[in-house]
Amino acid sequence: MQKTTREQNLRLIPLGGLGEVGRNMTLLEWQEKILIIDMGFRFPEEDMPGIDFIIPNISYLKGKEKNVLGLIVTHGHYDHIGAIPYLINRINDSLPIFTSRLTRGIILKRQEDFSHQRRLNIEEVKDGSLINIGPFKIEFFHLNHNIPDNLGLFITTPVGNIVHTSDFKFDETPVYDVPTDFRRLRNLASRRVHLLMSDSTGAENEGHSFSEKTISENLNEIFKKSQGRIIAATFASLINRIQQLISLSEAYGRKVFIEGYSMKTNVEISRALGFIKAKKGTLVQSKEISRHPDSKITIICTGAQGEGQASLMRIINKEHPFIRFKKGDTVVFSSSVIPGNERTVQILKDEILRQKATVYHYKMMDIHAGGHAQSEELKEMIEIMKPDFFMPIHGQYSMLAAHAEIAKSAGLEEKNIVVVENGSIVNLGKKKIGIEEKPVPSYYVMVDGLGIGDVGEIVLRDRQTLAKDGMFVIIAVVDRQTGKIKGSPDIISRGFIYLRESQELLKQTRRKVIEIVSGAVGSGGIVNWAYIKDEIRNKVGQFLYAKTQRRPMILPVVIEV
Ligand SMILES: [Zn+2]
Repeated sequence: MQKTTREQNLRLIPLGGLGEVGRNMTLLEWQEKILIIDMGFRFPEEDMPGIDFIIPNISYLKGKEKNVLGLIVTHGHYDHIGAIPYLINRINDSLPIFTSRLTRGIILKRQEDFSHQRRLNIEEVKDGSLINIGPFKIEFFHLNHNIPDNLGLFITTPVGNIVHTSDFKFDETPVYDVPTDFRRLRNLASRRVHLLMSDSTGAENEGHSFSEKTISENLNEIFKKSQGRIIAATFASLINRIQQLISLSEAYGRKVFIEGYSMKTNVEISRALGFIKAKKGTLVQSKEISRHPDSKITIICTGAQGEGQASLMRIINKEHPFIRFKKGDTVVFSSSVIPGNERTVQILKDEILRQKATVYHYKMMDIHAGGHAQSEELKEMIEIMKPDFFMPIHGQYSMLAAHAEIAKSAGLEEKNIVVVENGSIVNLGKKKIGIEEKPVPSYYVMVDGLGIGDVGEIVLRDRQTLAKDGMFVIIAVVDRQTGKIKGSPDIISRGFIYLRESQELLKQTRRKVIEIVSGAVGSGGIVNWAYIKDEIRNKVGQFLYAKTQRRPMILPVVIEV
């Protein structure tokens, strides 16, 4: 019997992280057996009021749960692990997870917030580990990034070998990590790479990423100059950066105060597992801050992206119990800004400057994350791996497109490069690569408090309208017999106009409502109240827009008596 092409192809299905930065998750499917790589979340954009974060859409896995063989996690960043507590039990809560030691520690620590869930089944792997999962054989290899214990994947599949780079950069002088092992990479390449899936986050940046050593040197300049306290805002997951700040503080005799729950947690885990080193007495409790002179204080805190609940925001808003900004403070933003957060971060910087502190941010000096390979390194990775096919992963569409151009400049033919976004199904055969016409669902699944996916597009649009133009409720009591409005319609409004000062507008609106109702009811017959409500919504909406140029949410309530 002739096998269908579908059965001879490996299917690669990105459910998140392609066409956006964050919530990375990719499926590899061979004859219905599925392997998952990463399960991350992303933070909402500025126009998503009330949303905590966005997770990958796994509708495609519905009914296929038993075919899922395992989850491989490349490293401990939230855009690679963040969705685990929300998704794993919807697939299989004892699904085997394979990851490195530090990543495992971070995942398990976070899981403590979800203590009602079953303990995760995580097997530790490291550089050089080899595992077999169904039709896949996975070999893990070390790659540098801005968090330790990051693993690239060499996956042997029935159609050929796939290299998945995780997030990476080449670093020959990392701080507290081993340098990139180019010989190892060439060795892997010599076994022939059929498909290379490579990190695109830095593809739009020319040249080579900065070595962690350079970043340390730049931070050192700031430490040298600063007379007062140093307050460094970064990601809780930038373990390398936190280590650099601790080491520099030790060199300058500063005590270190770690601020922010997630930052404290990550430091605790990393220290316990030996990935962060600090001398005894360096790390101190924040309530002890007044016992030390300003010149001997470093505060490392969360909130460099302007996250509302983070320490930095609490200090700015003067809500922090021990810390206020003051003249002489040096504030360092040591992480790049996630696309979509630029405006918020700008507001933060302005406010800190108003409070008289000095601000350094990544555009002024290379003190930011720098965890991702830039164009030169990406080209080098492609030249080392010499893949038959190439698929850029991790990044906004412009980053994926830039990475595809780099691949062309490295000698790959355009037909052998696939640039796809979330939900696309890539068919990888022994001889060719293609994209299926029909994608799988990949729209946002939003997490709001305890609710997962119960806030959809409509709720979100409502929140946007409410936040922007407020709401306008019209209550009309209608006589069922005559079809006429009894008395005058009531109007309640919030966030739209101040009612007391808008009596004339209200009077006109009431008249409008009475007109609409009497016009629609006509003479006898069945009254279509749904139609009347729509009419009120539309016509009052137009009327209010004509008068105010605003579009509040209009809620008509018709009560029949
Ligand atoms: Zn990362």
